[in-house]
Amino acid sequence: MADTQPPIELVAPDIRALCSGNTDIEYVTSVESGVPGPHVVINALCHGNELCVVVAVERLLRLDIRPLRGRLTLCLANVAAFRRFNPARPHASRYVVEDFNRVWSREVLEGRRDSVELRRARELRPLYQQADVLLDLHSMVNPGEPLALCGRTLRGRALALALGYPRWVIVDAGHASGRRLIDFDAFACPDDEAGSGGKVALLVECGQHWATKAAETAFALSLRTLAHTGLISPSLVHAHAPALGSAPQRVVEVTEVVTATSDDFSFVADFVGMEAVPRAGTVIGYDHGQPVRTPYDDCILIMPSRKTLRGQTAVRLARPIAV
Ligand SMILES: [Zn+2]
Repeated sequence: MADTQPPIELVAPDIRALCSGNTDIEYVTSVESGVPGPHVVINALCHGNELCVVVAVERLLRLDIRPLRGRLTLCLANVAAFRRFNPARPHASRYVVEDFNRVWSREVLEGRRDSVELRRARELRPLYQQADVLLDLHSMVNPGEPLALCGRTLRGRALALALGYPRWVIVDAGHASGRRLIDFDAFACPDDEAGSGGKVALLVECGQHWATKAAETAFALSLRTLAHTGLISPSLVHAHAPALGSAPQRVVEVTEVVTATSDDFSFVADFVGMEAVPRAGTVIGYDHGQPVRTPYDDCILIMPSRKTLRGQTAVRLARPIAV
C-alpha cells in the first residue's frame, strides 16, 4: 500500500470541556425526556485516531438536543487514546494498549487481564447494556465511501436501511482478534431469541478519519438515527444535517476474513476498499510469500488494512446479497 497519507482537514477539538458530561462517567452526556421511548446511545472514539467522529459529537452536544421521548446519550469512548492524537503521527493514537473494539466478550471483560482500554470498557459496559439502539461511529484509514456494518442480525440490517445511507451495508461477524462492541451481548443475539430484547447496534465507517466530509456524515447519520427512533423531529434533520448521497443501498455479506499469519503481509495494489475483483482465484496479496486469492467471481474487498501484523485482519471478502 502507498504511504501517502490523506490530509488532516479537521482540527482536533479541545474535549476537556466535554469531560464532565452530566453522568457519573466522564465523557458521557445523557438526556432523559421523561416520556417512554428507546435509549439511544451515540458512541464515538472506540479508536483514538478517529477525529471526524469527535467533531460530530461535539457538534451534537452544541445542538443541545432535548429528546421528545426516551433517552439520548452521547459517549466518547477511548478518550485516553484520543488525548494522544498528534497531527505529526496521526495513525499512532488508535489505542493506548489494545483495541477498545476487540474486547467485547464476557470472557475478556470479566477476565483478569487489565489495560487502559479494558478499564474504560468495564466502566462503559453498563451504559451500553442499557442502550436499546447503539450507533457506533467510526472512520477509516483510506478515503473510501462510508460503510454501515450491521453484524448478522436482521434488525441491524433494517436500521442501516432505514437510515438510507451509506450506500454500502455490510453483513458481517467481526474479527478473529476479538469481539466488537456491536457484537456484544444482546446486540448480537439472534433475531428469533428473546434475549435480544430488540436491542440493535450499528457501526458506521463514516469516511476518512480526518476528512471534513466524514464528520458531516457522522453528524447527519446521528440525527437520522434520532429521527428514526422518534427522539427528534425529522425537521431537525432537515434543518441541521448536510445532504447525503441518495444512491440505492447495496447489502453485501462478508464470507471470509483474511487474517494475516505473519508480519509480512502486502497487497498487490493500493486497494482502498469496495473494489470488486471479477475473477475467482485472482491474487490480491501475499502473506509471508504465500498468495492470497479471491474465492469467487465479483469478490468485494472490505476495508483492506494499510499495515497488517500477524493475527490482525488484512481484508474481508464479501459478495452481494438480495435485500
Ligand atoms: Zn474505528
